[in-house]
Amino acid sequence: MRSRSSSTAVLPEVVLENWQQGGFGLYVHWPFCEAKCPYCDFNSHVVSQIDQARWANALAAEVRRVATEVPGRVLTSIFFGGGTPSLMAPETVAQVIDAARDCWTFSNNIEISLEANPRSVEAARFEGYARAGVNRVSLGVQSLRAPDLKKLGRLHDVNEARAAFGIAREVFDRVSFDLIYARQGQSLRDWEVELREALDMAVDHFSLYQLTLEPGTAFWDRAERGGLRGLPSEDLGADMYDLTQEVCAAAGMSAYEVSNHARPGAESRHNLVYWRYGDWMAVGPGAHGRFTTPSGRQETVAHRMPGAWLAAAERGNGEETRLIAPPDEQAAEYLIMGLRLNEGIDLPRLHRMSNDFATGDQIKGLSEMGLVASDTSRLWATPRGRLVLNSVIEKLVP
Ligand code: SF4
Repeated sequence: MRSRSSSTAVLPEVVLENWQQGGFGLYVHWPFCEAKCPYCDFNSHVVSQIDQARWANALAAEVRRVATEVPGRVLTSIFFGGGTPSLMAPETVAQVIDAARDCWTFSNNIEISLEANPRSVEAARFEGYARAGVNRVSLGVQSLRAPDLKKLGRLHDVNEARAAFGIAREVFDRVSFDLIYARQGQSLRDWEVELREALDMAVDHFSLYQLTLEPGTAFWDRAERGGLRGLPSEDLGADMYDLTQEVCAAAGMSAYEVSNHARPGAESRHNLVYWRYGDWMAVGPGAHGRFTTPSGRQETVAHRMPGAWLAAAERGNGEETRLIAPPDEQAAEYLIMGLRLNEGIDLPRLHRMSNDFATGDQIKGLSEMGLVASDTSRLWATPRGRLVLNSVIEKLVP
């Protein structure tokens, strides 16, 4: 008979590497769009022709190249972002997914997402994407009001978006869509009615963003010239944010991140890799990767312009710059990403990166203002704190 002491022996504590607490994903950037939306500052380009076979070969080769740095891992998500990835031929998507499958083990419940425009021509490709392995789409619906879609420079109309959503629900396991609020001329009541209509569409994941003016966009230039009238004030924007939280929570779609709402279990696993500060490989123009190797946490950035990236990838490496992130930078990035989440951050993990961040005194000061809350292992921003998250983060850095 085994002695009692041997059967209850304390096992050594398993200390996971930091990245393992966040998961492991692959981001694929497709840089092309049919038109440039006036509010968009993403790395997206309008071209008349795309050589799909050439792009498929280059993206797949890049997947194989980056995989040599982190072999033997289990991949939890792939995300095709852009740009407009629904301009990819299904065969292009399949070639990239197949390359990833050759390089890593897919987790049993791997999430493979693709951002799509809700147009009929793109919805016709949904079946092909599903056959390639995509199991989740994120539709750029942006508004359920025809005049506002025009103002936002979108090429689809409301009926087309609703029809594309219906097709997506039939074809994919999971469907999300994006809406932009705090638009020109929008009142609080307008937004509430539109949001409730969107909830009636039985979506299980939403990304709800406030319209922001980014330097370098057409909206920014128009605003500088005084030509962008009727944008909600900062106070009205804050009221819209509060209303969004209330209405979505009452419908069982609470925010799990500042701008993202989901039914329990329907959260975007890929975005959680970013916010939980896991490791992700990135391929395609301008894509940013973060991953851990024996020499440290690598920060990679690919060539931004599509032509330069394609030429570099075909020469054998699409990466333009690489740094090894010092611990302080990792701590700052983890704080910025993690406090966006309702669940907040793992304090011991942060302090393994650097003890200078989120000290007891800093947390106490912010708690007294009602902006953060904490227990022995976690720190999170309160709803009030999330409204002023940048200021909260500033107070938690040395
Ligand atoms: S479709 Fe998306 S990525 Fe393309 S220009 Fe519009 S907002 Fe930007």
